[in-house]
Parts: sequence; structure tokens; C-alpha cells
Amino acid sequence: MVIRTRFAPSPTGFLHIGGARTALFSWAYAKKHGGKFILRIEDTDVERSTPEAVQAILDGMHWLGLDYDEGPFYQMQRMETYKKVLQTMLDKGTAYHCYCSKEELDALRESQMQQGLKPRYDGRWRPETGKTLPQIPTGITPTVRFKNPQTGVVAWNDLVKGRIEIANAELDDLIIARADGTPTYNFCVVVDDFEMGITQVIRGDDHVNNTPRQINMLMALGATIPEYAHLSMILGDDGQKLSKRHGAVSVMQYHEDGYLKEAVLNYLARLGWSHGDAEIFNMQQFCEWFDLDHITPSAAQFNTEKLNWLNAHYIKEATLDALAEDISTRLQANIHKASGAPDLKAVLNLYRERANNLNQLANDVTYFYALPQASAADVEKHITPEIMPAMQKLHQQLAHIEWTAEAIHQAINAVVTEFGLKFPKLAMPLRVMLTGIAQSPSIDQVMALLGQNETLSRINAYLK
Ligand code: GLU
Repeated sequence: MVIRTRFAPSPTGFLHIGGARTALFSWAYAKKHGGKFILRIEDTDVERSTPEAVQAILDGMHWLGLDYDEGPFYQMQRMETYKKVLQTMLDKGTAYHCYCSKEELDALRESQMQQGLKPRYDGRWRPETGKTLPQIPTGITPTVRFKNPQTGVVAWNDLVKGRIEIANAELDDLIIARADGTPTYNFCVVVDDFEMGITQVIRGDDHVNNTPRQINMLMALGATIPEYAHLSMILGDDGQKLSKRHGAVSVMQYHEDGYLKEAVLNYLARLGWSHGDAEIFNMQQFCEWFDLDHITPSAAQFNTEKLNWLNAHYIKEATLDALAEDISTRLQANIHKASGAPDLKAVLNLYRERANNLNQLANDVTYFYALPQASAADVEKHITPEIMPAMQKLHQQLAHIEWTAEAIHQAINAVVTEFGLKFPKLAMPLRVMLTGIAQSPSIDQVMALLGQNETLSRINAYLK
């Protein structure tokens, strides 16, 4: 059997973290089994679907590298197909016309509630052998209802949640096409999962309630029932349902916020799934390992600290080419192109060990490409009048040496010895002058990269 999975987002917002994880799991499952991963845009809610949201979903998937083998299919472009299937069901008697007006249904619901009953359709237009249906009213276009079985149970072995069983008596006859002829949500999903030959439906557990209805309809269509895996939801760091309050809920926001896609993918893969104690793995490993047996049925809790830790790891692991490409777009436009400016890759090589975020890394290295502005407090604390004679001397020395980190180090050493200072006494003011702050990697390496002219000129600005 060829495995066929799908990701079926409704384009009513950006691709959020939960959606991205659903997509990732469906994608990985198909990859692992040499199957096909299908993207289907469920855009039939025309009021809430927008082209911008479609684009946001495509962009998010593209950024994460979740490539699909088929699609994107758009449900709005498949109306003819749904209508054909509706007609087949009407012809076969697995669906029927219902002429109830909205007022009638409201009245029915009202009276059921008054009697303390669960509101449900009473089947008044449901055809049965030997039953006489009401007179067809004039001026009413009918809806189409699915003729749900009334006895027995509908059950499935959910690959995450275990066996789930619902009595058919609990389910009433669902409207599958509105009076204007447009098919409804569950019906479109069913037709698509059937026609697209989906073998595993991996989706959020907010759809668990739809599954028994969908299975019944699939059976009525004579379809092979796919396997279902309902993923539990993702909670925020605070244990509350993930929402806009938690800030970065769109996957693209993570990109903007300085995360590498490798870190986000690795992080998402571990949200509710595990492989022994493996925490760090790439997508190739993930696709080899991924299965539906090791998904936890309980809610997964977001952990920003862990994401940051993974991000630090992948920043260290990235090729300098890839890192430089990313950071150059984060550095303010053009500042890194100034002539004589140090090579960004060399700069990143010096700085990435200490970074867990790309924006922070870009910020850390900006001083190589633009004059830094030291705070008054740092200047006052480190660039003291007493240090100026030694700094003057160092400036003179530096003008005549070969510009390597070793030679720079020796020059600083010679001056601190001559003036009877400790190394940091000179290194700290140098940092403030050259980088704008009092922390940096080893100052001789910083100076070597910054270049002789730039170093001398930045020191000189303080000597005047
Ligand atoms: N369109 C649904 C959603 O975005 C998913 C439907 C499904 O996966 O069956 O929540």
C-alpha cells in the first residue's frame, strides 16, 4: 500500500505552531514510508478565508522545507466534484433532501431544549421504507442530509488516542449541502480524503468529533477508511492554551524573531513525539525514526528555553555561508558593505559560540560595520584619565606592527608590563572604544578582524 498523507489547513490565519507540527508529522510519515504528502487548502469558509492566509501558509511551509508531492488543491475549485458526489449519494439513497425551513428547525430545537433533550434533527424528511414523507412545500429549496446509520456504533483505533467508539444513535443526519447547493465542511473533507486516496489522516484533536461522521460518510461512499491520528494540542509555556498572548504563534514569526528553521523543526518534532532520549536530530533522521506509536496523547507544553537551546546548537552547527547569508539580511541594509569592512563569515565564526538567537548575533556583530556608541556609564567606568597614557602608548605601538592577533596581543602585553597594569585594565577600555560595550571575545581577535586603520581610528577618537 502506498502511504498518502495530507495537510489540510483552513486559510483563515497564518500557519501557526500547531498547524506546522501537524504538517511536519504528516510530511515525515509520508517520507518515512516512501509515500506522498498532499497539501489541500480548505477554503470553503469564504467569509474567513483570505488569499493572504493562503500565502502565509505556503510561505511557512516553504520556509520549513515541508515540500508537498501533490497540490496545493483548493476546495473552492473542486465544487463540481462535490456536487457530483452529492448527486450519487442522492441517487443511491445515502443522502436525501430535507425541506425544513430555518424557522421549523429553530422551533424543533426550542421544544427539545424545553423538554431537556439534546437538540437534534428529528428525521422528518428521512426516507424509510413504508414511511410517508411530508408534502413537499413550495418555495423552499431543500438542503441535503446524510442518512446516518441509526443503530450500531462507529469506531476506530486512533493511532494516538486508542480506540474511540460512538453510538450511531448519538449522531443525527448531517446537512452535507446547504439550500444554495454549496457542500458543507465535513462532506468536502470526506470527498477529498476519499478521492485523494488518503491512508492516514493526521490532524489536531479538535477534529475528533468530526471523525465518526466522516467515517460513516466514507463507508456510505464505499471508501477504504483511512487510519486516524489525532494530535493533542500544544499549550503555552504557562500551561494555558496557545494563543496570541504567547507572542510568536505564527511560524514565520520565529524566523523574524531570530530562529533557524532547523531549530524550529527539531523543536516541533519533539512536541508530543519522542525517540528514546534523542533531543537533537535533523530532518533526515526524523523521517527515518518517525512513527505514530510514540506520540503522546497528552497535551504538549511549549518550552521557549528548550527552543533557544536548540537554536544555539544549530547556530553553532550552521555552515558559515548559510549563517552569513541570514545575518547579512538582518544587519541593517548595506552597512556590512562598507569598503574595508571585515568578512562577515570570519566575524560570525568569532561570535556564534555565544549566540542563541540570530537577531542577537546580528546585533552583536553590528559594530564591525558601523561605529558603535558606548554608553556614558561604560565610558566613565573604563576609559579613565589614568589609563590614557598607556592607551596613547598602545596606539603608537599598534601603528607599527604586523596586523595579526598574536602581534596585537604582544603589543598589549608590552604596554601593560611597561605601565605596571593588569591586562583587563587596558583590555576593557579597548573593548568599550572598539565595540561600544565592555564584553567581547578576546580583544586581540576582535582587533585583528576590525583591521588596523579602523582600530587606530576608533582609539584615536578617544585620545583626542
Ligand atoms: N481544515 C481543518 C483545519 O484547518 C483541518 C481538517 C482536517 O485535517 O481534516 O483545522
